[in-house]
Amino acid sequence: MSDYEPDIARLIERDDTEWLRVQREYQGRLYSFVRRRVRDRDACEDVLQETFLGAIRGIAGFDPRYSFEQYLFGILRNRTIDHLRRQRALQFGGQFGGQFAGDTDEGAAIEDLVREEQTPLTLRERSDLDQRGSELLAEVLREWVQETWTEREFRRLMVIEALFSAGWRNRDAWEQLGLRDQTTVAGVKFRALKRMRELTAAVDARGECSAQLAESLSEEPGQVSIDVAQVWRRFRVSCPARHWLARRLAGSLDAGMAEFVDFHIDAAGCPWCAANRDDLAQRSRENELEAMFERVGASTMRLLRSRGEPGAGGEKLPPDPIS
Ligand SMILES: [Zn+2]
Repeated sequence: MSDYEPDIARLIERDDTEWLRVQREYQGRLYSFVRRRVRDRDACEDVLQETFLGAIRGIAGFDPRYSFEQYLFGILRNRTIDHLRRQRALQFGGQFGGQFAGDTDEGAAIEDLVREEQTPLTLRERSDLDQRGSELLAEVLREWVQETWTEREFRRLMVIEALFSAGWRNRDAWEQLGLRDQTTVAGVKFRALKRMRELTAAVDARGECSAQLAESLSEEPGQVSIDVAQVWRRFRVSCPARHWLARRLAGSLDAGMAEFVDFHIDAAGCPWCAANRDDLAQRSRENELEAMFERVGASTMRLLRSRGEPGAGGEKLPPDPIS
């Protein structure tokens, strides 16, 4: 079973059928993401609508290093931050500056989103070499995850995701993942790094970024130019495909896999898989959102059928929220 990936060339040509399919496939997971962060339903609808319109305008600049879902989530994240910031400015009249940032649910949601990994659209590597290094490191990590998944070593996968991506200490991993002691955690990490360094030889056969990769994958990385945690999250190296999430909900995964999926979403806190899971759960329950999606769809169609040049305008990027 494979997950739907749209035909980008047809999207660039503003093909109605393909864009409608995109909307049908992705609206639920996008809506679930924004619904967790924005209380007002009308506002959620606006954010969703702006996301699809932004996706149509920006599709000519689609970066094939990322999945289409990542492209949509990147725009959605920016639209959600814009909305939450406007809300907060209205609430506090701007006079308190950032003082109350974390004081409300929505203020906390902005903080979370801004802290969240950089998405493709806000991606700014310091140099071409760092960019290439990040891509190669992502490949190494993916290879390792794939290998570990195939060997059904889900406990090992959880430990490494906890340490590398979620920033847990050895002690937390030991206590929360039911390992024998902290030395076991250190051993798992040691062997994973060793295997990852072996994998770099195959992935980076020409040795383009061997120094950066070796540095990032050392026991004590110090100040490195390529951050493993950031690459892990940005490239979504351990996100299970959507059909695995569907099987988890249907109760048809065995215990080890189910435990990993739950860990990845709830303990490691992957917001994208959480949105997918919410969407799948919602789909199996109700159709009440249909009317709203139709309205958003009508607006998408209006833009597609307007006389604009394909790809004209482009997705406008907000300033990097971190600066
Ligand atoms: Zn995920």
